[in-house]
Amino acid sequence: MDDPILSREFGWTESSESDVSDVPFASDVDSDLQSSEEDEVPFARHGPLLEADLEELCMQCEFWGHCAIGFILDYRRFSVSHLQHLISVAWRIRGAVKVVGRDSSFYILHFEYLEDLNHMCSEGPWSVDGALLVLEKWRPNLVISNLQVNYIAVWVQFHGLPVEYQYPELAERMGQCMGVFEKLDWEDRLPCNIRFMRARVRIDPWLPMVTGFMLRLDDGSRVWIQCRYERIHKLCIKCGIIGHTRGQCTHNMDDIEMMLVRQRFRI
Ligand SMILES: [Zn+2]
Repeated sequence: MDDPILSREFGWTESSESDVSDVPFASDVDSDLQSSEEDEVPFARHGPLLEADLEELCMQCEFWGHCAIGFILDYRRFSVSHLQHLISVAWRIRGAVKVVGRDSSFYILHFEYLEDLNHMCSEGPWSVDGALLVLEKWRPNLVISNLQVNYIAVWVQFHGLPVEYQYPELAERMGQCMGVFEKLDWEDRLPCNIRFMRARVRIDPWLPMVTGFMLRLDDGSRVWIQCRYERIHKLCIKCGIIGHTRGQCTHNMDDIEMMLVRQRFRI
C-alpha cells in the first residue's frame, strides 16, 4: 500500500526520542573526565534496576483508571486553576471533575464516575474558552512528557448534499477522504436530519483542515460539499490549522505550501 494513512500509526504515541538509550548519561559526562576515563564513568553512575510493588500499583491504578489525559490545542497555555474553573462552570455531567495536574499542554482530569469519563472521551473534543480540548482515557505505563498527539477524532458535518445523496455509504467515503473514518451518526428512520450528514473522523491536527470537496452528480454537474468541524472555533484562515487565528499565525507561505502538499498526499 502506498497510502501513507494506512501505513501510518494513528494514536497518541510516545515519542521515539523517549526510548531509553544504552548510554543515558553520555551527554552528561564531565568534560575533564571524558578526556581520560570516558568509557568507564557513565556506567558507574547508573543506579540499580528497580521494580514497583504490584499491589501498590493496583491501588494506584484505581485512581488513575478514573482519569483522562487532556490535550489543549491552542496557542495559549491554560493554568490548572483556569481549566478547573472553566470545566466546573461549563460541564454538566453527573459527577465531579478534578484537574489533577499539567505537563506542557497535557492535563490529567479525574472523573468521579466512569460513565462521565467514557462519555467525555468518546464524544469530544470539547471547546474550553475557545480552545480545543482533546480527551483520551488514561492507560497504564504512559509517560506524559513523552506523549505526542498524532490524531484527533472529530465530528465533521458534510453540508451541500442533495437529499438523495445523503446515504451512509457515501458519507463513509467522504469521511475516508478526510482521514480515518470512525463512525457515522445515522439512523434509518423518519424524521431524519436532512440538513447535513455527520461522521466521526480521525484527522491529523498538525495539517491544514480540509474545507470541502467537489461531488459529481449523476447529471454531470458538480456541487461543493462543505466540511464543518464541530466545536472547532479557532481555525486560522491563512494556514488552516487549529488553535490560532490569522493574527497569531507564525507559518510563512512556504511552510503552508509544504503542509498542503502533505495534506494532498494523505487524501
Ligand atoms: Zn495559521
